[in-house]
Amino acid sequence: MQSGQKHLVETRFRETIGLYGFSEIVSPTFEHTELFLRSTGLTTDIITKQIYQFIDKGGRDITLRPEGTPGIVRAVLQYNIKLPVRLFYIGQMFRYERPQKGRYREFFQLGVEAVGEPGPDIDVEIIEMGSRFFTNLGLKDVITKVNSVGCPICRPKHRTELSLFLERNNDKICNDCKERAARNPLRIFDCKETSCQELYQNAPKIADYLCFDCQQHFQSVLNELVERKIPFELNKLMVRGLDYYTRTAFEFVSSSSDLGAQDSLGGGGRYDNLVEDFGGPKTPAIGFALGIERIMLALGAPVQVRKAVYIIPLDPSIQKQGKELLNLLRNANIPALINNPDKNLRAGLGIADNLACEYVIIIGSEEVKKQIYTVKNLVKRTQQEVPQDQIINSLTKKNQS
Ligand code: AMP
Repeated sequence: MQSGQKHLVETRFRETIGLYGFSEIVSPTFEHTELFLRSTGLTTDIITKQIYQFIDKGGRDITLRPEGTPGIVRAVLQYNIKLPVRLFYIGQMFRYERPQKGRYREFFQLGVEAVGEPGPDIDVEIIEMGSRFFTNLGLKDVITKVNSVGCPICRPKHRTELSLFLERNNDKICNDCKERAARNPLRIFDCKETSCQELYQNAPKIADYLCFDCQQHFQSVLNELVERKIPFELNKLMVRGLDYYTRTAFEFVSSSSDLGAQDSLGGGGRYDNLVEDFGGPKTPAIGFALGIERIMLALGAPVQVRKAVYIIPLDPSIQKQGKELLNLLRNANIPALINNPDKNLRAGLGIADNLACEYVIIIGSEEVKKQIYTVKNLVKRTQQEVPQDQIINSLTKKNQS
């Protein structure tokens, strides 16, 4: 992974969500397995197929976190964090998946959780914040899909209708969907098989079965999105792959061809029952998680920014002067490195290039005598002599131009 680009993604993320008052939480990379079984859900692919689960030396059943939300909700309850609270995290997640471009067994997510706010205002803020982050990163081709997945009141009627539809079409659905139909029919919408996806275009959609309150909530979210001119696409087939979502669900999808099938950059939704399911009071909440590797793929190859200066003293007797210059540059906030005395000029130039330095300063006996430095610009492939006492000025000016 190009960590410079990862850093850029994280920086833009911190800048963007800082505008909305989110503060960082660092939670453990592993938790008791029970936590994920009770939240992410027994019917999800994540839990049935993808968790890294083991028994530790104390006999505890442990799982490397496949996603961030359950650990954050646990921490909010365990430490009695005052609500409402807006938290964000950046960290590794682990899923036993078939690795391919954009899908890894260990990957990084950027996530946010707003616990204690019922919405619909915060739903819109969160969706807007995600869109703003992608815009700030310079990603223009990100589509925001929005749907409502209802609540336990609206789901039974939909579930019955969907089950009947699946029974009628049992011969047309894949084996995974047959299993999903038995355990939790809503999960069929996660299926990636083209034939299933085509069939489900005509399946009963949860958004058409919402109870009055969910309908009101959803309509307010959609109205507010339009009013605030936040581009989105209503997509009734999008249900997200986790069991705890309620009401608003959304996904950020890239149309960049570099991502292929792994075009989802992230997504999230409301989870109004999770805190209560964990033994806490009834508490509304909403969050999202974005995949750093996929965002980096969508950004494309990073433009290498050359910044540092590489000093090459041509003779061991000049090394001391080289080190003084090194110190001078760093004191002036100019990134600088010095060639090892056992490497000659040719080797030094090769290293400077490998390290993506912008300038090489050569100091030989001629330079010492004439009190100048020979400055090579590795990007423009130019060379000039600069009086020693003007070196900082000269480099600072160059960096500004
Ligand atoms: P999820 O937690 O499943 O809602 O996923 C949120 C985002 O995390 C996805 O849209 C991806 O960008 C990223 N993601 C999920 N699983 C993986 C994976 N196995 N490898 C890389 N990124 C992933």
